[in-house]
Amino acid sequence: MPWDTIRKPAAGEGARPNLRSYPEAYASFTWKAARQELDGLPGGALNIAHEAVDRHLAHGHGGRLALRWLGKDDASRDFTYGELARLTNRFANVLTELGIGKGDRVFALAGRIPELYIAALGTLKNGSVFSPLFSAFGPEPVRSRMELGDARVLVTTEALYRKKVMAWRNDLPQLRQVLLADAGESALPPGTLSLTAAMNRASENFQIAPTRPDDMALVHFTSGTTGRPKGAVHVHEAVAAHHITGKLALDIHPEDRVWCTADPGWVTGMSYGIIAPLTNGATLLVDEAEFDAERWYRTLQNERVTVWYTAPTAIRMLMKAGTEIARRYDLRHLRFLASVGEPLNPEAVVWSAEAFGRPFHDNWWQTETGGIMIANFPSMDIKPGSMGRPVPGVEAAIVERGKDGVATVESPMKVGELALRPGWPSMFRGYLHEDERYRKCFVGGWYLTGDLAMRDADGYYWFVGRADDVIKSAGHLIGPFEVESALMEHPAVAEVGVIGKPDPVAGETVKAFVALKAGHEPSEALRKALLGHARQRLGAAVAPKDIDFRANLPKTRSGKIMRRLLKARELGLPEGDLSTLESDEK
Ligand code: ATP
Ligand code: MG
Repeated sequence: MPWDTIRKPAAGEGARPNLRSYPEAYASFTWKAARQELDGLPGGALNIAHEAVDRHLAHGHGGRLALRWLGKDDASRDFTYGELARLTNRFANVLTELGIGKGDRVFALAGRIPELYIAALGTLKNGSVFSPLFSAFGPEPVRSRMELGDARVLVTTEALYRKKVMAWRNDLPQLRQVLLADAGESALPPGTLSLTAAMNRASENFQIAPTRPDDMALVHFTSGTTGRPKGAVHVHEAVAAHHITGKLALDIHPEDRVWCTADPGWVTGMSYGIIAPLTNGATLLVDEAEFDAERWYRTLQNERVTVWYTAPTAIRMLMKAGTEIARRYDLRHLRFLASVGEPLNPEAVVWSAEAFGRPFHDNWWQTETGGIMIANFPSMDIKPGSMGRPVPGVEAAIVERGKDGVATVESPMKVGELALRPGWPSMFRGYLHEDERYRKCFVGGWYLTGDLAMRDADGYYWFVGRADDVIKSAGHLIGPFEVESALMEHPAVAEVGVIGKPDPVAGETVKAFVALKAGHEPSEALRKALLGHARQRLGAAVAPKDIDFRANLPKTRSGKIMRRLLKARELGLPEGDLSTLESDEK
């Protein structure tokens, strides 16, 4: 690898990370001990919202700031743990009074407004199941997910209801209640209730439901990067993984101000944008507004953010905006930077080390895993381009599928499928109404992730590509990530998506779609320069044969490049499920 390892201070020097020595933590870790960091409820009951909110009151921390909310218009609201406990109690009482009980599904379709956070935790307190939807979904994706998830209640806003739900609401007879977060009691659309009015009437005392660890708590829909999104089911026990990975992999301390930029409509926004910072007793920062480079830097500075968790798409946009902007802000409080969702190009890691004085720490996980599984821990040296090492309590492997199950691949840097040994608490317990598909994920005692990766001699994992995206060309297995990372090194390149195109001779050939940075125009000369750069970096067998320029690449709403769509369009094939597509280049 051409990238230098970023060395970290030896344990004991400088800041005090929660995980001081990776090998020691990995060797001594047990999930039982992790569970004991939580309080639990009498009789072995466990409830995510109790661990996130109310137990801090029992420990005398009710006055501590739990949630700081920044509105689009620069208004802000602060909620202490005590206030959050009372508001979520009110929400749980609203549900109870509406006859919504254990296991009933409560959906949310809202921007990042305070009521969304209150509804999430209040639903869990009630023993009901919470399923957040991304507010930018169109009517059909909202409907299909609510139908699949058997929604009993929807929490939304009046505008979103009128635009996206009203037309088909009566087609979903099981949908009993619609609560509008921003509506008063007069002139409500028929069949809806004012959440504010209901909350005001409700008591602020509530006995949290004594949920069992394996009771269903959350349903999260996957990002739809590779096809139709699946509804992954998670249980209350998952909180043990949220808590401990927040503590070890994101290094959350109680005095931290944590900004996870993901929307709760995606699993990251729930596991680390709500649950983990709260179980760790920290302050959670929520920004209602969408990405804007200046706003983000201002927020990092003014809110004295210490732990920042974001995604490669945002990091690429910040890189595009330039290092000079970063330098204009006082970011001295920023202590730990982490990224998830897509491969993080080594270029971005090196850039961040320069722009912020500290690098982004990539970590890997999926909606299905519920929490971080592979991470670059704060005390661990970073190899730019690597996802890091398995979190304590998680056994990972590289495997090959064969006729009789799977075999583990022991040789370093050999490509295979990334597999995890089932048993960590936040593992999904099913895909909604897709039992067969769920069962097929488990082979020979492993959960197979569908991602291809390699492990080096030091135990670091390297992402190669999704099994669906990997290119087979003239006997070579080519991961799009490697090709994309090489092109990203070129100063003109802002974003790249790489696909395989069928070829009668090679099987497939590599084609790249490139979006350029401001100030660069597509030209034949630039195309040649990029092809040359890639050939020099990757060799002729792996380098793209062809490059097309695009103003934008198609992405999911969570910011992932949709290679399947680049491919379908290139080959004139059906485009498949587009419910999560954000920027459409057509
Ligand atoms: P779908 O399953 O619907 O196609 P999706 O897989 O994108 O969508 P998510 O569960 O949100 O849905 O994303 C998990 C996937 O994202 C992983 O399987 C992996 O392919 C990718 N991913 C997440 N983090 C990383 C990372 N750090 N490096 C590389 N890839 C990552
Ligand atoms: Mg997936």
